[in-house]
Amino acid sequence: MRVRVEGTVQGVGFRPFVYRLAAELALAGWVLNDSRGVLIEAEGEPEALARLLERLRSDAPPLAIVERVSEERLDPNGEQVFRITESQDRGEADAAVSPDVATCEDCLAEVMDPGDRRHRYPFTNCTNCGPRFTIVCGVPYDRPLTTMASFEMCDRCRAEYEDPLDRRFHAQPNACPDCGPSVRLTDRAGRAVAEGNEASLEATALALAEGRIVAIKGIGGFHLACRADDEAVVAELRARKHREDKPFALMAPSAETALELVELDDAAGRLLASRERPIVLAPRRPNAPVAPSVAPASRELGVMLPYSPLHHLLLGDAGAPLVLTSANVSDEPIAYRDTDALERLSGIADLFLLHDRPIETRTDDSVVRVVADRPQFLRRSRGYVPRDLPLDARRPILACGAELKSTFCLARDGRAWVGHHIGDLENYETLRSFSEGIEHFERLFAVRPEIVAHDLHPEYLSTKYALELEGVEAVAVQHHHAHLASCLAEHRAAGPAVGAIFDGTGYGTDDTVWGGELLLGDAMGFERRGALYPVPMPGGERAIHQPWRMTCSWLLEALGPEPPLPPLIAAHVSAEEWQKVGELAASGLASPLTSSAGRLFDAVAALCGIRAEVNYEGQAAIELEGIADASEPGEYPLPGDELLDARETIRAILADLGAGVPVPVVAARFHNGVARAAARACARIAEEEGIDLVVLSGGVFQNRLLLERTTEALEHAGLRVLTPRLLPPNDGGIAFGQAAVAAATH
Ligand code: ZN
Ligand code: ZN
Ligand code: FE
Repeated sequence: MRVRVEGTVQGVGFRPFVYRLAAELALAGWVLNDSRGVLIEAEGEPEALARLLERLRSDAPPLAIVERVSEERLDPNGEQVFRITESQDRGEADAAVSPDVATCEDCLAEVMDPGDRRHRYPFTNCTNCGPRFTIVCGVPYDRPLTTMASFEMCDRCRAEYEDPLDRRFHAQPNACPDCGPSVRLTDRAGRAVAEGNEASLEATALALAEGRIVAIKGIGGFHLACRADDEAVVAELRARKHREDKPFALMAPSAETALELVELDDAAGRLLASRERPIVLAPRRPNAPVAPSVAPASRELGVMLPYSPLHHLLLGDAGAPLVLTSANVSDEPIAYRDTDALERLSGIADLFLLHDRPIETRTDDSVVRVVADRPQFLRRSRGYVPRDLPLDARRPILACGAELKSTFCLARDGRAWVGHHIGDLENYETLRSFSEGIEHFERLFAVRPEIVAHDLHPEYLSTKYALELEGVEAVAVQHHHAHLASCLAEHRAAGPAVGAIFDGTGYGTDDTVWGGELLLGDAMGFERRGALYPVPMPGGERAIHQPWRMTCSWLLEALGPEPPLPPLIAAHVSAEEWQKVGELAASGLASPLTSSAGRLFDAVAALCGIRAEVNYEGQAAIELEGIADASEPGEYPLPGDELLDARETIRAILADLGAGVPVPVVAARFHNGVARAAARACARIAEEEGIDLVVLSGGVFQNRLLLERTTEALEHAGLRVLTPRLLPPNDGGIAFGQAAVAAATH
């Protein structure tokens, strides 16, 4: 009998699994990997063959995803034994590079077992777990082409590696204390403070307990770690990281301790413990034992569980949650090389816990939360990348994404690979990371792009990169169209759909800045059927960092010339500045028009006294959501069909604030008003077109309150709502959408 198994069945221990199964069922024959998956020929008792077919699905190894099992009758050719055969055409085409996988239960048990030879060994892994994508330098995925190449396996490790019955059969990063990588603790100058695994771990535990900040090299890059319960040290870390207000992520020793920090429903709990081990954002518990500086002004905490043996050991030693935040200074990419880390982090970390297994590709922790019982990605990176998504592309495509939260996407032959989170593509360091990442993926997945898709914005570095490539056909994709197409494509929905695409900014086809868009379309094309009332963005980009400028602009539109300085802003902005910005907006100089929903949220947040200036895009809006009283049912008017006129909304807010209505109520009424208006406008377009599909995407729909209220209203109107689930609604999802548009049109 010949059996073909398709799905995620390579690099996951599938062949040894088949080998063990065959041995148990007394079957002869062979198993191998080929370009379509796993191929088996087996002969033996008919009953045993039937059992094999069943168990290929039911007993598959943990990391395997069996999509199809098909069989074909063959005459037995007298095989006597069962063998694992060398891979056929083990070429570039289907290199089994999987995402990095959190330490499995079996490995963890060994690490914790004093009698095991891997007791407290920080680099323990097996076929079911360990680093993958972050250590791969090329294909085929074999030890010499990983960053483990320089470590020669000792006899015992080699024996495991070569034994088809062993859990470590062909585990490329296999290692032990005798032959594998080790950690060492250094000071800021790189001088050894402790050598060897155990001494370094002990010294690190002690330093952390004493309130020191330690840079720790992990799987995809460095983290900065410190006690989470000590306000002095957390505040010190915040100060050393500069103008950083973003919440720090936490790592909890166990699911039980995580539950003391945040409220987790079933879906969030599963996500937290999943082998992808993302940072899960969840509502913080009122008495969560963490210092205030961990996540100032945030209702949520980001929590993850240990995902490498090193983490398990550190957290086990600490016995309490640690701050474990990406090691970078403000917006730079995460540090991942030892020398680079020592250089860039010497002003932040007191000590460095280094190890000698190089990281090939820096990969940030993924960030996910649960909305309506399903994951919503804020950042898709470690643990998920480079898992592919289906995409019907006739010609090989490279899509370059946008600018903020940059990712790229490569596609060919029905598959698309969305790259790791690069960061904000605003400087040389990130641009290099971007171009190296693209070249790496092109090699790993054998994509030679014939088409390069890019944003319409002429000044994005990603656009410039795309237009400089030679021998490819360039395809410009409008930003919000890409958001719409991305969501449709990940759901395998053809559309057309109405899309409410709300985000910060994106270049429009009329050369103005869009961001509160009502689109009708599919991957082939779109029409702009409506938008938020556009207002000037006084000072352009500066308005992103100073939301009060948007308040000024909106008041100018809502009230007329020389709007009064609102009392809640007066503490932060002088009357003179306010007047100047008002004049700037009125003049239209350096004040591009924008229909951005993100900027409207900023304006309202500043008007409510939440925050006049921010350190990262969307901060004021996030805090506005955080403060909203979710039990408030009221809403502000936001009239209009094609043009949603938020001037009335602004006037209603002013009236409420003037009457002393509490800010949490105002914030809720604002959210409700926008949700209702968006739903009403989408429903109208859907009815006109005789369709029932609506897409909600764009970074503003990371706002849970807005997303939930809008979805409710749309579903109440009998419409089907799609939101991004495999990729972020923010610009991290743009590249895939660009690829979808290029695939559909070329
Ligand atoms: Zn394992
Ligand atoms: Zn060894
Ligand atoms: Fe966007």
